[in-house]
Amino acid sequence: MKLVVRGISFSYKSVPALENVNFELNPGEILSLLGPNGSGKSTLLKCIDGILRPHCGVVYINGAAASAMKAKDLSKVMGYVPQNIGSSVFPFTVFDVVLAGRKPYIGWNISDKDIEVVAETLKLLGIENMASRHFNELSGGEQQKVIIARALAQQPKILLLDEPTSNLDIKHQLEVLDLIRNLSRSMGISVIMAMHDLNLASRYSDKVVMLKSGRIFAAGAPEVVINEENIMAVYGVKARVYKLSSGKPHVVPIESTPISGDVSVKETPILS
Ligand code: ADP
Ligand code: MG
Repeated sequence: MKLVVRGISFSYKSVPALENVNFELNPGEILSLLGPNGSGKSTLLKCIDGILRPHCGVVYINGAAASAMKAKDLSKVMGYVPQNIGSSVFPFTVFDVVLAGRKPYIGWNISDKDIEVVAETLKLLGIENMASRHFNELSGGEQQKVIIARALAQQPKILLLDEPTSNLDIKHQLEVLDLIRNLSRSMGISVIMAMHDLNLASRYSDKVVMLKSGRIFAAGAPEVVINEENIMAVYGVKARVYKLSSGKPHVVPIESTPISGDVSVKETPILS
């Protein structure tokens, strides 16, 4: 589904958090939201999902205003995975946590179709062997997959992920992002994810939006947006940006205060 975010502004009481945010996303595309802590990434995801109601602006899904849709209908097309889900307590089995994703579809009773979708989703993520385990007893990486499975059980066409890899080691970061990219490509799901790691965003995104104090500072393809000037302007960090053979940018921050005695680091680009 095509998602258009048009002129979104939002304030918490009198504190502005977002100002005039605009972008578009096509089916099957992955967009990363970048920007320092407090720049408005989570607020923007919540405005798109309708958890927060923007003061100005409209979110269009295939040309229809999302705010005019019933919550139940909206949750059939849009899945949302909040930040820091690992710290939430779900005293349920993995199967039940994922089944909760079927809420928009469940009437008075759970149908065979719901059970089938949950089983298929668990299989898709390779976690069917965990179905009867307790969510709270899983590792961070496993929990992250279960929460993504819960969002996917909604069978959404748009998936919003708030820092999906923040608590994961490098192997699980790649595993989760590979999975998201494969699902996005194979099922035409549009993905918006808030990311801190510029290199992972560069590697997995078709588009990036860099936020600074609630405004879009730069937007476009990773190779256009992720550059030394923008990183300095938005994060206040001096970095070298190298080009990988894939054409994607790779960010290496430069030591601001050299550690005394550490003279072995040469600034030779090791990447072609
Ligand atoms: P990010 O996800 O990029 O770290 P947030 O969207 O969480 O940024 O926050 C954007 C701004 O809104 C920050 O200044 C933050 O302090 C403020 N903010 C976030 N949540 C609330 C809230 N519930 N009440 C008041 N201010 C908030
Ligand atoms: Mg956040």
